[in-house]
Amino acid sequence: MTTGRVQSEACAREVADVVVIGSGPAGLAAATAIRRSHPGRVLVVERQARAGGIPAQCDHRGFGLRDLHRSYSGPDYSRALAGQALEAGVEIITETTAFIESDGALAITGPAGLRHVEAAHVLLATGARERPRTARLVPGTRPAGVFTTGQLQQFVRRSLPVGSRALVVGAEHVSFSAVLTLREAGVAVRAMVTDLEEAQSLPVANAVLRHLYRVPLMTRTAVVSLEGRRRLQGVTLEDCVTGARLSVEVDTIVFSGGWVPEYGLARSAGVVLDPGSGGPAVDALGRTSRIGWFAAGNLVHPVETADSTAVQAARVGAGMAASLTRTRGPLAPAVPVRVAAPLAWVWPNLVRPGLTSGGDVTLLRTAEFGAQRSVRFSQDGRELGTYRIRHLTPNRSLRVGAAWRNGVSAEGGLVTASLH
Ligand SMILES: Cc1cc2nc3c(=O)[nH]c(=O)nc-3n(C[C@H](O)[C@H](O)[C@H](O)COP(=O)(O)OP(=O)(O)OC[C@H]3O[C@@H](n4cnc5c(N)ncnc54)[C@H](O)[C@@H]3O)c2cc1C
Repeated sequence: MTTGRVQSEACAREVADVVVIGSGPAGLAAATAIRRSHPGRVLVVERQARAGGIPAQCDHRGFGLRDLHRSYSGPDYSRALAGQALEAGVEIITETTAFIESDGALAITGPAGLRHVEAAHVLLATGARERPRTARLVPGTRPAGVFTTGQLQQFVRRSLPVGSRALVVGAEHVSFSAVLTLREAGVAVRAMVTDLEEAQSLPVANAVLRHLYRVPLMTRTAVVSLEGRRRLQGVTLEDCVTGARLSVEVDTIVFSGGWVPEYGLARSAGVVLDPGSGGPAVDALGRTSRIGWFAAGNLVHPVETADSTAVQAARVGAGMAASLTRTRGPLAPAVPVRVAAPLAWVWPNLVRPGLTSGGDVTLLRTAEFGAQRSVRFSQDGRELGTYRIRHLTPNRSLRVGAAWRNGVSAEGGLVTASLH
């Protein structure tokens, strides 16, 4: 059980070599990697009562294949990652929130009071959240029975009543998690709706949904209004092509996916944000625009699976540990990488020519479906690399190589990633 070591002394100042903000898979994997190669004090700060991030609330299996090489339930996966971190000598402080003071300094507040934090390195690993109904501007009344997948899973975990007939909005990986959770809670799923032309998860998930669970998938369909006073009673759907409307009687609706990075802390720390992902702009080693401040996990690539996130963040942690032992000079200038529509974002989105490139993967997201295309990286009209893509699916990452980064010139302009 990871309860964290909450400091009891009324200390107004924390000094650590590294402070990691967020104890999800990214924060824990990075902290473990840092502490394994650096003997100094590595502190993980988590605002929730338990370490582990989102998986700590996801009871289903399917976590940990790429990093821990077996399939865990979410809570077991969180415990395993937290256990590794504690064993490596990382300190985890729970129920404690990090924030930025008016002078740009880092502070934390929790059961041990308010403390100022001094650290050579800070890692932002605050994750991403699903867009709730309010952010989607769905009109109508404000009844009970409206969830995101994360909220739904917390309700079910605490055995709180959810409803009896549900609609799931979204058709990406996490939307299928929502269906599983609803079924476990004994709620009938009336339909899954997406305004896109196809589902975006794996074909096997679509087949299970249709043939085993008999949940209809309604594509090119938007939610235009919610009805019901105290409790949700119905939802009006609109066909995005014909404009035809349909009322569905449900007492529960789950808005799934539509991820937004938890960028608030990064922004108040003065870290430059990437216009594509909405999270901090980072190079492949997680270095942000602020010296000594790094970012990793779904905060910078909203969103990947937990295990890929952990693997990537461990690389960032290893780079941070190496940089702790070096004399720090000014950060080498970074060349931003931007995407052209229909690409939505690219990670990494900064390249520091001449510095360690950090891994051999580039992740991209697209807003449109497609097949047999290529992604081209170019700077000032000069081609840096072109990669073939077999399928384009929104809400799923395209993985291409990273050799294009070697050709980026520090004297050149922006790098652009575009589809052809
Ligand atoms: C419903 C659902 C089901 C999923 N199912 C799967 C699955 O089956 N398999 C899979 O591989 N992935 C799954 N995922 C994705 C997986 O959960 C994420 O990829 C993973 O959690 C991302 O890790 P992270 O560390 O970047 O962020 P998170 O897990 O979101 O962790 C971020 C942490 O930062 C903390 N935090 C934020 N701000 C502050 C602050 N200011 N101070 C202190 N703490 C702060 C948060 O409390 C949180 O604990 C699922 C996600 C959801 C929502």
